[in-house]
Amino acid sequence: MKIGVCEICDKEIIPSKHKHHIDGDRNNNIESNFIYICGKCHRRIHHPGKKIHNKKMNNKEKTLIKKYSNIWYEKKRLRLQSENQGK
Ligand SMILES: [Zn+2]
Ligand SMILES: [Zn+2]
Repeated sequence: MKIGVCEICDKEIIPSKHKHHIDGDRNNNIESNFIYICGKCHRRIHHPGKKIHNKKMNNKEKTLIKKYSNIWYEKKRLRLQSENQGK
């Protein structure tokens, strides 16, 4: 099996198993919409408020988590907005 590293914390992962859709749209399967990250970093992105996940993060990790988390939540907000307008 192919081994890669988490783009956030550099931990070894199996890229095919650990994929995050940057814009949160599972149907958007272009390569630039993916980052390959470990399960822990993935939880950090989707639950940025949980303090327990924020322990022991270095600056690079903090910056990336914040970046991807912000994008994800913003896209989600926009998607909900346009869905509501369509009704
Ligand atoms: Zn990681
Ligand atoms: Zn994700």
